[in-house]
Amino acid sequence: QQDVDDYRKSLAIRVSGFDVPKPIKVFKDCAFSTALMKAITKQGYEKPTAIQCQALPVGLSGRDIIGIAKTGSGKTAAFVLPMIVHIMDQPELTKEEGPIGVICAPTRELAHQIFLEAKKFAKLNGIRVAAVYGGMSKLDQFKELKAGCEIVVATPGRLIDLLKMKALTMMKATYLVLDEADRMFDLGFEPQIRSIVGQIRPDRQTLLFSATMPYKVEKLAREILSDPVRVAVGEVGS
Ligand code: ADP
Ligand code: MG
Repeated sequence: QQDVDDYRKSLAIRVSGFDVPKPIKVFKDCAFSTALMKAITKQGYEKPTAIQCQALPVGLSGRDIIGIAKTGSGKTAAFVLPMIVHIMDQPELTKEEGPIGVICAPTRELAHQIFLEAKKFAKLNGIRVAAVYGGMSKLDQFKELKAGCEIVVATPGRLIDLLKMKALTMMKATYLVLDEADRMFDLGFEPQIRSIVGQIRPDRQTLLFSATMPYKVEKLAREILSDPVRVAVGEVGS
């Protein structure tokens, strides 16, 4: 335990929560499939970043996460890799309709970046990723969702529009990510986030990531996550 504490300290990782899984040192510690390891290597990722060292084992264990780390620290892979494993673990991929993983981000640019990163890891595993955000044809996105996907990356407003149009159902969704939660609050998306969360089954795994953790964001996290592990890296403002 002292070793684990020292290792966390060396990476400026602070954790809280019940029974927190140990941080990893190398990607191999996660026992990823060969295909996923290949994708990680292909990305040029030699070793996990600090947030990845702690968030990957927590996410892979099925726990909810409140993740706080500054921009550029590798948060995307920290939630996408466990999402891919979660999807690959599902007994049947195509029986029912709708995505298994849902990722919400505040802006179309961020949603698009996550979409690109998710696709790199998803493709080798035959997992389909759809991106839905404003500024692009709603009809095209409607059709793409109807064609089927396992992961959807969305801005909150557009996702709600498409849910109303019945372009997708979230019946099968069991892994929800709220990325850049602080910015979603700043942009006034709290009602949309609450609406989306309310449409996803309560036994889901929920991961909330943010560069900062103002009180109102932490409060929402505590409401919609179950028994989360909180992982904070470095100096973070509140
Ligand atoms: P954040 O969401 O925390 O701002 P990103 O997930 O967008 O950060 O990652 C920032 C950059 O770092 C991206 O270009 C990403 O491909 C790269 N990256 C992520 N993880 C690693 C890693 N383990 N090794 C090297 N580069 C990485
Ligand atoms: Mg990010």
